[in-house]
Amino acid sequence: MKSKPETSSFVPSPERMRQHWSHLCSTIGERRAGSAGDAAAAEYILDQLRQAGLQAVHGESFPCVSVHEAQADLAIGIAGDMKPVPARVLAGSPATPGGGAVEGELVWIEMPEQAERLFQPSLRGKLVVLFGPTPTRADLHQRLVRCQPAAVIHVDDRLPFEWVKDDGVYPAWVRLYGMPPTVTIPYRAAWDLRKSGATHARARVNVQLKETTSHNLVAEIPGRRPGLPVVLLGAHHDTQCNNTGADDNASGVVALLELAALLAQTEPLRTIRLVSFGAEEQLSVGSACYVGAHRGEIATIGAVLNMDSISSPLGHHWLLRAGTVAFGKWLTRELAAAGLDTVEQSAPIPFADHFPFSAFGVPSVTLMRPNMNSGMRWQHHSSQDDLSNVSVEEMARVIRAIATVTSTLVAKPKWPFTRGLVPDQRAETARLAQELFGLRTAGARSPAKRPPPKRRE
Ligand SMILES: [Zn+2]
Repeated sequence: MKSKPETSSFVPSPERMRQHWSHLCSTIGERRAGSAGDAAAAEYILDQLRQAGLQAVHGESFPCVSVHEAQADLAIGIAGDMKPVPARVLAGSPATPGGGAVEGELVWIEMPEQAERLFQPSLRGKLVVLFGPTPTRADLHQRLVRCQPAAVIHVDDRLPFEWVKDDGVYPAWVRLYGMPPTVTIPYRAAWDLRKSGATHARARVNVQLKETTSHNLVAEIPGRRPGLPVVLLGAHHDTQCNNTGADDNASGVVALLELAALLAQTEPLRTIRLVSFGAEEQLSVGSACYVGAHRGEIATIGAVLNMDSISSPLGHHWLLRAGTVAFGKWLTRELAAAGLDTVEQSAPIPFADHFPFSAFGVPSVTLMRPNMNSGMRWQHHSSQDDLSNVSVEEMARVIRAIATVTSTLVAKPKWPFTRGLVPDQRAETARLAQELFGLRTAGARSPAKRPPPKRRE
């Protein structure tokens, strides 16, 4: 009888982890989708997967729009002087006309409670400060575009710090509805700006985009029963602009490479497929392209365990679960038994690479480690997300648990959970998949035999 590897046999190597981390974040650095850093990371990851002895190692390219250059200048008028404010371009933003400066009255909108104040023509030509989230409903986003502000200044109220956080707007919305020139400023700079009583500002946004390609990187540890649905382990290797993404998401890639090395020593019943996705920071573009390209064989993917930002020294391990309650319960229990306690979240979340799979009913999770009560990471998408703020020990714990659970999953010819989503997740997942990714699903219904409910006309 073939003996199953013991839990204790999965011992992650801190040296190997440090080496991968250092290569991705120090040698390469920023890995913005479609950039030279992105390509260098892809080459490194493929090479490491080959060295770990994995099979069918290859890259799958997809088109992506890369930010070639993005520069923002913002100044506020106080007592006749123009005082500079640190600002960065919000991803997706167009340039101000001709890349020149626009100047106008400052208008403060506190979101979401003042969303109803977004109407034209009162905001036309003005500089609108959005304090709070950018619109998360397509109709509000469209309304903001129709207001034709000269520029929008965004303040992320979840992170009350002195540094700028890089973020973006859903690419699908930018494509479909457009976007005003938008910059983002640090919370503390907004605080001072408000206190200054300044009534007008000047902004300049310069953006150059490049149509290019990025890559999903794929490798396999072949199973003894190739006919059984595979377990897909995922992470993403790209970063936002202006940071080296040590946690988001070099941590996931380091875990993926370490899992490759550990699991390559096993002889699983089911195939283990590892995928490092590209362009996640543009809203899961790489994983959505992967699912789109492999839609005909989606039934051969049994489950997805994705890892994103898992290395905070202090934090809470979250399990973003898309799938049945039984799937969540099983996974939570197995992870806990392997030493990793997690908090389950079951609302559909499109900001992670498991989401496009879940739209087709594949039991999918993203493991994430927020370190703030809000579910955020304080260093998120900023220069603070560097190697000084990650924990090798914490990551080793995660890797050990995922290796253990994966080896349990791939040893079983039958699983104690089915495909499909719970009814609460189904409609919202289908709506988001269609609206944000153009993925048309059959309501993310499980491939069960029961016929779809008849519609009454
Ligand atoms: Zn990420």
